[in-house]
Amino acid sequence: MSTNRYDVIVAGAGPAGSTAARILARAGARVLLLDRATFPRDKPCGGGVTFRADEANDLDLAPVTEREIYGVRVSVRLGRRFDRTSPRLLARMTQRSKLDAYLVEHAACAGAEFRDGVAVRAVDIGPDGAVVRTDRGAAEAPVLIGADGINGVTARALGIEAAGETAVAFEANYPALNGDMEPWSRMIGLDLAGIPGGYAWIFPKGDHLNVGVGGWKYTGPTLRHELSRLCAYYGLDESRLRGHRGYQLPLRRDDAPVVRGPAMLAGDAAALVDPLSGEGIWAAFVSGRLAATEAQRYLAGEARDLSGYQRALDAEMRDEIIASKRLQAIFQRLPSVSVLMLKYNSTFWRYMTEIIRGELTYPQLPKKLGPIARLIEAWGDHEVRRHQRDLARRTARGG
Ligand SMILES: Cc1cc2nc3c(=O)[nH]c(=O)nc-3n(C[C@H](O)[C@H](O)[C@H](O)COP(=O)(O)OP(=O)(O)OC[C@H]3O[C@@H](n4cnc5c(N)ncnc54)[C@H](O)[C@@H]3O)c2cc1C
Repeated sequence: MSTNRYDVIVAGAGPAGSTAARILARAGARVLLLDRATFPRDKPCGGGVTFRADEANDLDLAPVTEREIYGVRVSVRLGRRFDRTSPRLLARMTQRSKLDAYLVEHAACAGAEFRDGVAVRAVDIGPDGAVVRTDRGAAEAPVLIGADGINGVTARALGIEAAGETAVAFEANYPALNGDMEPWSRMIGLDLAGIPGGYAWIFPKGDHLNVGVGGWKYTGPTLRHELSRLCAYYGLDESRLRGHRGYQLPLRRDDAPVVRGPAMLAGDAAALVDPLSGEGIWAAFVSGRLAATEAQRYLAGEARDLSGYQRALDAEMRDEIIASKRLQAIFQRLPSVSVLMLKYNSTFWRYMTEIIRGELTYPQLPKKLGPIARLIEAWGDHEVRRHQRDLARRTARGG
């Protein structure tokens, strides 16, 4: 590290960390961006960047987009299927190795000092800021942004347990041969209602399909089998799958703190994954930007501390995550009704596309249903509590 004193240290160069580093460096801050992996690095992820995530980010993602998505092929428990399409762009398909390298490159071009292959080993919080210890020495700054993902060091060092629970996912890549990509040129595949708390997916990339399955944590031992079933259903030769890997998705406790002293958590480190969809890149972009904005205010003497980040993040995301959790719980209770709505109710489908595009928020969705909005929210809360009791029982049984 060329110098060991910075304005801001960012731990973790995923979408959250690179976004924060880019914005801060562009504004003239001295930023150190550290990642334990050597870039370009991959990460278990479908690499689906929704339109709302794309919009939340001020970079053009076209150079790392392998496919544009305008529709969803929905199946129910690997049975009947139907297509739903939109005339408007819903998502970009990328590979995380490309997306994250691109984001890092932009952070470095903006002036951030990027060091890969450097793991943060420990974080000390003092009155003047944070000291970050690595195998290559220590660095200090008045502000630390912990964007080091679900298993990062920062949240632990701060004593923050942001996730109330985790979901799990298992995925692999299917190199395409003649005609394999054709049905998926502008569509993703989603199989719903088959896996508790999740779904199975097919995300098409440039030359392969990313296939995966995910659900509540206790479904972990079943996921390999579920992936086999998904392949069989779509006639994919399972022996051609490459790069199997499993990983966790952190789901936020409603009032989890994201700030402690000179440190802020962003992205997965703050457990901001969307409970219904498992989307995390949107939240990584948004929280990275909000953390950078608060750091700028603090460094400029416009804020006495970093607590404004907690308020800004909660204003943008708390109700969104709670409403998504409610919808997910309702969907889990009545999957067939939800799928029927998706299939036959064009207005409902349009609302879903508006959520994907960031034109409608989750809390606004029940309100679209008029007088029964409050009833739906209460029902959602009831189902969330039911799930939490079930989870507690399973945890007590060691499941
Ligand atoms: C199987 C799967 C599929 C998914 N599919 C999608 C999808 O299609 N679309 C979507 O929006 N979301 C998806 N998600 C969620 C998404 O991957 C995450 O929410 C997102 O990557 C969070 O970004 P982040 O920047 O917070 O963290 P990460 O992307 O996890 O980046 C954290 C970085 O911190 C680094 N790091 C960790 N520890 C240290 C340390 N001690 N020192 C230094 N660096 C460290 C890591 O190397 C990593 O580069 C998926 C998740 C899974 C598991």
